[in-house]
Amino acid sequence: MSDGSRRDHWIGFDLGGTKMLAQVYDADLKPIGRERKRTKASAGIDSGLDRIVESIRDAVEDAGIDPGRLAGIGIGCPGPVDMEGGLLLNPPNLGWSRVPIGERLAEEFSVPVRVLNDVDAGLYAEYRYGAAKDTRCAIGVFPGTGIGGGCIYKGEILHGSHCTCMEIGHIQIMPEGPLCGCGRRGCLEAVASRLAIAANAAKAAYRGEAPHLNDAAGTDISSIRSGVLSAAIEADDKTVRDIVREAARHIGIAVAGVIHILSPDVVVLGGGLVEAMPDLFIDQVSRSARKRVMSAFKDTFEVVRSQLEDDAVTKGAAAWAQHKIPQPDATVADAVGV
Ligand SMILES: [Zn+2]
Repeated sequence: MSDGSRRDHWIGFDLGGTKMLAQVYDADLKPIGRERKRTKASAGIDSGLDRIVESIRDAVEDAGIDPGRLAGIGIGCPGPVDMEGGLLLNPPNLGWSRVPIGERLAEEFSVPVRVLNDVDAGLYAEYRYGAAKDTRCAIGVFPGTGIGGGCIYKGEILHGSHCTCMEIGHIQIMPEGPLCGCGRRGCLEAVASRLAIAANAAKAAYRGEAPHLNDAAGTDISSIRSGVLSAAIEADDKTVRDIVREAARHIGIAVAGVIHILSPDVVVLGGGLVEAMPDLFIDQVSRSARKRVMSAFKDTFEVVRSQLEDDAVTKGAAAWAQHKIPQPDATVADAVGV
């Protein structure tokens, strides 16, 4: 393994709406170099792609390896992607459309590239190394600004032919509910994301029903982060607790629907909200889902907390690339025909 010319290193990339992270992994998927940059999506697609390329180059330099040691790249992207075509379709918060990100990176680094959804990447890491290790079917639900979903079925990411799937955040929970960022009404993320919870909590603070929250963050939605909500509940703001419970109950309703369709062994909950209030979320989502499934499904699934931290998306993307890209047992010398 310590052969200094073997193509056995991997890039795992996490493309976010505000930040991007490139990590270099060795053959055993241990991280050995990294680079983080701001995404600056408003500067346009070309400049965005240039920043991605630059981040990978900088991470490779940080790792101290020759770029010729790379065997492949896995990149986790927000929103739906075309995995076969390596296209980023229309990511929320980036304002880009149909970006041939796979082709660009393959040309730039002369290695195969796998493009996947970031939630799928994070869940794949949980499947390989964390809370969903070796399960037959794992569902992931990650409430944040939106609500991401993913599914690993028999070791593969469940996806459509032209588009990734498991957009659990856009399951309609309330037919006449609040407007969602996607333009439709009553989606799960319009009623249960951190943004939805923060908006309801801000109203409660304004009405004088959440004094601790009001002291800590006032009524500014952007200041009402997961940690602030959790601290307000700890300090006995009952209204805030009820708001968060209600959101978790709604997540459980969507999860019950998914359980009827896929019968997962495990439902992994993750993201900032869950990290800040793990017991509340696991308990409420689990109860709400169990109450709503047919009796045959009641004891077939577990609701658990994600185990991997910040680097789950890069690690999952690299592991996915390693899983999907045929590994030539070749050295750099072989590849250049020496
Ligand atoms: Zn929606």
